[in-house]
Amino acid sequence: MQQLKPIQLNERICLIDGHDLDMTERTGIFVILEEEITIVETSASPSIKYVKEGLKDLGISLDEVKYIIVTHIHLDHAGGAGLLLKECPNAKVVVHPKGARHLADPSRLIAGAKAVYGDKFAELFEPIVPIDNERLLIKNEGDKLRIGPNCQLEFLDTPGHAKHHFSIFDPVSNGMFTGDTVGVRYPQLVPDNVHLFLPSTSPNQFDPDAMHQAIDRMQNMELDSIYFGHYGTTNMPDEVYRQVSSWLEVYVNEAKTIYIEQQGYEVLAERLLSLVREHLRGLGISDDHEVYSILQLDTEVSAMGLLDYLSK
Ligand SMILES: [Zn+2]
Repeated sequence: MQQLKPIQLNERICLIDGHDLDMTERTGIFVILEEEITIVETSASPSIKYVKEGLKDLGISLDEVKYIIVTHIHLDHAGGAGLLLKECPNAKVVVHPKGARHLADPSRLIAGAKAVYGDKFAELFEPIVPIDNERLLIKNEGDKLRIGPNCQLEFLDTPGHAKHHFSIFDPVSNGMFTGDTVGVRYPQLVPDNVHLFLPSTSPNQFDPDAMHQAIDRMQNMELDSIYFGHYGTTNMPDEVYRQVSSWLEVYVNEAKTIYIEQQGYEVLAERLLSLVREHLRGLGISDDHEVYSILQLDTEVSAMGLLDYLSK
């Protein structure tokens, strides 16, 4: 696949496309150009070749990388961290306290992903390289990390999508790296002037109340930018909070109905997708738009997480 060039989002922050699942504009890797070069998210291991190529394009050598921050340890965010770290001799991996031990010993992560992805696992995720404890840096709620003379990143514990999820506040751009906490952005629709943001409710720690709380917390911070794990950035955070909160309620209500009817996640996924389709039709998006290949995947995984939540 032809690799997309890194995008300079602002003076200090660049975005590399990880070509996760062989899709463009799906999973992003951010590079913060401060004194201590800092990467946020790695995507899965098959993305690491794209990360290295992107860093090269930006004129950054691997030994300049000081921090590799992962918002949470799901494989599409942190699966490639061990592989990348092997080639960045001066870097540490920064992780949520609840995620650290799974990066040191990924056996449970691997078992979990194999259960979901079956025989596609190897192609999508291997190799998953364990990380030595000495190279892990744990950040709790409120902790800071100085990466330049005028930049101290701050970590916020933001469960909702997963319990091992933090978000990272960048005071210089007044922006937040949100991983999957406040939803997914669909840049495929932007050329059509449609800005769609949907919640990511994947298994198996999804918690709608915590997700609503995280959204409220960010709203109170009056951020200027959100940097999404999927994909890119926006300077209209209020639109994100509005859409994700309201879709979250729709998702949970639909899930309750399907759960009571004792139907499977496929039925719920089809229901969620048809609601999104209806909404997009109203905005002039045709049913054969390329965005549907991603939406289909996302509604399936979200449906699994919703039913998993209700079953507990
Ligand atoms: Zn994700």
